[in-house]
Amino acid sequence: MHELHMLKTLHPIWLNRVVQSMAKGASVREDLRGQLDQFYSLLEQAVETGDPAWLDPVISGWAESLTQSDLEGDTSNLTEFLNELLQLTINICRETLDEIQALEVIGTIMPAFTFAYLKAAKYEIIAHSGYISRQLKETQQALERLDRSKSDFIAVAAHELKTPLTLIEGYASMLCESHEKVNPQSSEMQLLNGVRNGTVRLRSIVDDMIDVSMIDNNLLSLNFQPVWLNRLFVLLQNELKDSINERQQTMLIEPFPGSDELTFGDPERLLQVFRNILMNAMKYTPDCGTIHVDGRKLPGFIEVTITDTGIGIDPEDQTIIFEKFTRLGSTSLHSSGKTKFKGGGPGLGLHIAKGIVESHGGAIWAESPGYDEKNLPGSTFHVLLPIRAGSPDTKMAKLFEPLGQNKLAQGWAG
Ligand code: ADP
Repeated sequence: MHELHMLKTLHPIWLNRVVQSMAKGASVREDLRGQLDQFYSLLEQAVETGDPAWLDPVISGWAESLTQSDLEGDTSNLTEFLNELLQLTINICRETLDEIQALEVIGTIMPAFTFAYLKAAKYEIIAHSGYISRQLKETQQALERLDRSKSDFIAVAAHELKTPLTLIEGYASMLCESHEKVNPQSSEMQLLNGVRNGTVRLRSIVDDMIDVSMIDNNLLSLNFQPVWLNRLFVLLQNELKDSINERQQTMLIEPFPGSDELTFGDPERLLQVFRNILMNAMKYTPDCGTIHVDGRKLPGFIEVTITDTGIGIDPEDQTIIFEKFTRLGSTSLHSSGKTKFKGGGPGLGLHIAKGIVESHGGAIWAESPGYDEKNLPGSTFHVLLPIRAGSPDTKMAKLFEPLGQNKLAQGWAG
């Protein structure tokens, strides 16, 4: 074949020219010479057999040797390299052969180069996506490590705070008792009450930190007992009555279908869930607003909804508020009160609520048209709880068996 012969004649000239113009240092030149020699020999094979796939091994080898910095950039290093190679080959043909011969050789090698381009693009995409997924995995691992160290910090801090807090609580209540007997109206008594209130608040924060570390380490154990949701809401309504009155808010609790039916759950933990949501509804709703508790029975589940007429939550924040330490509002207002308007806390309440609901096999989520302090679009928190006919804990199940069998489903009229 005439063109193949010309191609073979060009081999040493091509190799010297290409190595000279592409490689800078002597060591690089030697290394590149071997690779380019192999490329040219395979190009000859491809032309001889009419099968461009001969070039595959050398192209995949080049793609594999792409460096970290090649992959970091968004340029196509391998296809650019092939471009340069083709340009040099065309120049060499033009300079060494007459016009017709040059055209013949270029026409013969073009299918092989097209194949090389396609393969290079494919291998480069594979190499880039491999690099990106490695990067993603590393970032995910770093985030997991960060989250673990956050959880470890919470566990250690809560444990370290517990002992001195218990001491302060003990001494403060002893002082209170002795002063109360002597002079309950004294100014010391007022100061001691301040200390007592502070320790109560601190105790609730430390307890929340302990709950978070239990949830994050999958150590939360539930004490399954018969539960009627309407009873929980009556208890909470009484507990929050004074704060509701103080804020001139209205709390409406509907007797929704399923709320008076027996199910099994951890009543203390469920109270904590609904307390956190109701107190948030109060905190993020201005004075005179309304908090509305409703729900419905679904196949196998009860869904409770708590709707407020408050400041609302932007759609992009509706998931992150369930992560620990999420604070959307100004931090200057934080901890200004448990039910004061926008008096946020440490950002643990919803994370704990989510952990408890999910441990029950349920789900919790928030919906709101958005955040708007002027128009007050409000928010709705949904809690989906599975209806259980018995306790998953076998000992407890035995104890409450008669209750489950009789299906005291009518509950308590409240
Ligand atoms: P915090 O202790 O700050 O109240 P939470 O975990 O209970 O922490 O809530 C996280 C964040 O979610 C709050 O800081 C607040 O920005 C937002 N949030 C919770 N409930 C509501 C609500 N009903 N309306 C508007 N925003 C809310």
